[in-house]
Amino acid sequence: MSRLAMLGGSRTVDARAVRTSVAWPVVTDAERDAVAGVLDGGLFTSNDGGKGAVSRLQEEWAQYVGTRHCAAVSNGTAALALSLAALDLEPGSEVLVPALTFIGTAIPVVQRMLVPVFVDVDPVTYTMDPALAEAAITPRTRAIIVVHLHGLPADMAALRAVADRHGLALIEDAAQAQGATYRGTRAGALADIGTTSLNVVKNLPTCGEGGLITTDDPDLYERIVLGRQFGEDLRAGTERDYLSRVLAGNEKLSGVQAAFTRAQLTRLDEYTAAREANVTAFLARLRALPGITVPQCPPDRTHAWHILRLRFSPEALGRPDISPGALRSALRRALRAEGVPMQQYQVLPLPGQPAFQELTGYHGYPWRIPGASPADYRVEDYPVTLAVIEDSLTLQRWHLNPAAGPVLQRCADAFDKVWNNLDVVLGIAAGSRAEVNA
Ligand SMILES: *Cc1c(COP(=O)(O)O)cnc(C)c1O
Repeated sequence: MSRLAMLGGSRTVDARAVRTSVAWPVVTDAERDAVAGVLDGGLFTSNDGGKGAVSRLQEEWAQYVGTRHCAAVSNGTAALALSLAALDLEPGSEVLVPALTFIGTAIPVVQRMLVPVFVDVDPVTYTMDPALAEAAITPRTRAIIVVHLHGLPADMAALRAVADRHGLALIEDAAQAQGATYRGTRAGALADIGTTSLNVVKNLPTCGEGGLITTDDPDLYERIVLGRQFGEDLRAGTERDYLSRVLAGNEKLSGVQAAFTRAQLTRLDEYTAAREANVTAFLARLRALPGITVPQCPPDRTHAWHILRLRFSPEALGRPDISPGALRSALRRALRAEGVPMQQYQVLPLPGQPAFQELTGYHGYPWRIPGASPADYRVEDYPVTLAVIEDSLTLQRWHLNPAAGPVLQRCADAFDKVWNNLDVVLGIAAGSRAEVNA
């Protein structure tokens, strides 16, 4: 039995190999040519007369996702803010948001003077629990933002039914789920409005920041487009009239960003297929080890595998005396020493973030709006999110590379080695208290 790297043994995964062989995003001559094409062509902005990279990307993404319209914007957070703006909700209205997601899902709600109401997630899919969503609805609720967390589409049929029963708008935050499908329909076409992010870490990246919004609704589309460009109508073939039809800022995408993403989009399906093979082979090996819960994909969906979250159970390892957090910390140490870059993704349910605990908002707004609910954000109200954060670790980013298969296999070797030395790891866990963020 080989010695753990943590105790002076050799590392299982060569960190340099990880850095050099599986960078993300993958930059090829197609991206270089696309970016150079924008520099040479002179159409630098989204106001490109329908001929530039931004217009092309909008057409291609709408076609890929299967919606009538797509608007390109500056980032995924802005995409959500513009979507909420287009719904024209009264300040103080409530919007349901999952408790387990990136802060970028919830901040646009507050920016639009709307009150986020958090909903716990399902313990298997890590996406919004439809029954709990329904239970959180009040007479002030107007919209639901669903997140396809880690790349797995949420239970959209159930959430659509909840939204319809209560007359709510449904927005999907597909920032982590480009290419994933639910009952044959692609993420981005599963709600009234779909948003996504082109941030460099996402499955469909740009060389920086960007976002895309999809919808079938021509009125929402028009308001979203006005919202990204000072309320101006900048349609091809019309002269700029400098009239701001709605109050709006500037959230446009640049041609360089769009061109890079267009090149990536031509390879999205190929990369998704390679990732599916690499990740499922990796997870199959982990599934054979006791005490690990690997991510599930219900048969009516496909998973984009944006983030791989693994849960660890002391109980299943016969050690109910050890806390899940202590086991997670000890495993993180042991696996990182072997060269497996395990890390946490989210350290608190969103309502537990200081920004929400303190209810600072904008001089106390939106919570101070007359008639708005007195916000009462208690992390104990989100037991599934709390448990998942406590007992799990994630792999992020490098595994997105289609060539990551061999490195993932080395990572599985590292898990085998650590599981062969579980007594050592459990001893460390038993002797320690959970280190926060460790
Ligand atoms: C990345 C991300 C966002 C924010 O996207 P940006 O482009 O970084 O603003 C929002 N929601 C989720 C779930 C994300 O993963």
